[in-house]
Amino acid sequence: MVCRPFKIGNAHGFVCSRGERAPRCSQCGKPAEKLCDFPIIGKGVKTCDKKLCDACATEIEAERLPIQFLAFTEKKEPDTIDVCPAHLRFIEKKEKGDQ
Ligand SMILES: [Zn+2]
Ligand SMILES: [Zn+2]
Repeated sequence: MVCRPFKIGNAHGFVCSRGERAPRCSQCGKPAEKLCDFPIIGKGVKTCDKKLCDACATEIEAERLPIQFLAFTEKKEPDTIDVCPAHLRFIEKKEKGDQ
């Protein structure tokens, strides 16, 4: 059984998995511990959920999300927001004012 510490807000704990197939990073194939949290607004609202390893995920501040996405993520009150490389580029483009 693999147990990993986690922290959500002020709560600490361990997540344990029992021989499940370890998720693989969608970018490099290493074991993935994160999912892209970038909101996808389409039919309903969900997140990108691309599987990412530590190296391929980039943690961003909530305020870096475009405003329409921020409204959505606040409902979930995420501790951290991790994004995949494609969505990081998307955010950086927005920040440069390149619409
Ligand atoms: Zn990776
Ligand atoms: Zn993504």
